[in-house]
Amino acid sequence: MQLTHPKCHKEYPSGSTAGHCAACCETFIGLTAFEAHRRGEHGTPSRRCEITSERWADDRGYFHYGPRLTEEQKKKRFGTKNDDPTTA
Ligand SMILES: [Zn+2]
Ligand SMILES: [Zn+2]
Repeated sequence: MQLTHPKCHKEYPSGSTAGHCAACCETFIGLTAFEAHRRGEHGTPSRRCEITSERWADDRGYFHYGPRLTEEQKKKRFGTKNDDPTTA
């Protein structure tokens, strides 16, 4: 099931496997990816969002943390997509 964030109207998967950040309005897959993009101390002005190079976005614009998925892993996880120009 997809949820829509009223603030940005972006869709994101419901459930604990994904999180949409209310501050930067990016979607993260996995708690690790979500937690890791938040910098600084909780509840202080230095608390901010940061997307570093360890993070990468998949075809849907969702951020992951760690090694990129191979094309095969992506297919398994997301199904095949026909509109990817790199595989046409
Ligand atoms: Zn954020
Ligand atoms: Zn949002």
